[in-house]
Amino acid sequence: MKPLLLAVQAFLCFALTVFAAPPRAGHVFIVSFDQGAPAGIQKAAMPVFKAMAAEGAHTWHAYTIVPSLTLPSHTSMLTGVGIQKHQILWNDYQPAKGPVSVPTIFSLAKEHGLTTAMIVSKEKFKTLVLPGSVDAFVLPSTPEAPTVANARAVGDAFAAQVGKLKPNLCFIHFGDPDAAGHKYGVDSPEKMQALADCDAALKTMRDAVQAAGIGADSVFILTADHGGHDVPEMKDGRPTGKMVGAHGSPATEDVEIPWVAWGKGVRPHAEITAPVVIYDTAATALWLLGVDLPESFWGRPAVSAFESAAPVGK
Ligand SMILES: [Zn+2]
Ligand SMILES: [Zn+2]
Repeated sequence: MKPLLLAVQAFLCFALTVFAAPPRAGHVFIVSFDQGAPAGIQKAAMPVFKAMAAEGAHTWHAYTIVPSLTLPSHTSMLTGVGIQKHQILWNDYQPAKGPVSVPTIFSLAKEHGLTTAMIVSKEKFKTLVLPGSVDAFVLPSTPEAPTVANARAVGDAFAAQVGKLKPNLCFIHFGDPDAAGHKYGVDSPEKMQALADCDAALKTMRDAVQAAGIGADSVFILTADHGGHDVPEMKDGRPTGKMVGAHGSPATEDVEIPWVAWGKGVRPHAEITAPVVIYDTAATALWLLGVDLPESFWGRPAVSAFESAAPVGK
């Protein structure tokens, strides 16, 4: 072969390597356990979560943003920026305010031709659906409770979607632990049962990914939006004598969250010691899928959770 051709070929190889990183995984599933504080997860009957944490890479000391509230925190998780930037300052569904104004991991993935899905248990996640960015948005609620869904319904809806859509990027949200924590206390038996229900749904999901034939090309990220702490329940300005769950503060119980990576290319049996902040989830998901991170991102990929910073197959 002529030297010029060899030089061109070498340059093309170099250019492909540098400018068009192949994906490290074909499918990324971000699973959020609402109010899934590390202490509660460690205490609950969650054999599937715990096995995935032990087999993969984990930290029990990742952090969410302040205020540690569901919609602002998940917006950081799924946009890669802090609340000062995304400005979702409210925590309920307010359609009049429109969707989030910064790009989401779903809109960025769509620009790269990837398929996206959100299987959620709360209506307020519609705030994160930019036009044309989510191929399947599923809130598997019932007519009796149209704005919420339980863990089993979420797991079953995921299984149905993953079989037909095989999304490249999918966010799954379990609201049960938060609902039980608020009502009965953050370490109550009811909260522990809610976490166990989520764990059963997690098994349904993991089995569905295997059944869809994409298990070997998938990464699961298991995390939470915030933790929680108990406060005296008040009624008409007086304590009732009962404790109930709350969150939103910068206290460790509220802001410490678990962060687990499990699946393709994940460093086995590893403890992540580098700091992980909730917006790093967005960066890690895009990095795994081979989508360039926008310069505007605050989050950085949690590279120490993976066997090699270089793409798999190199
Ligand atoms: Zn929450
Ligand atoms: Zn809550």
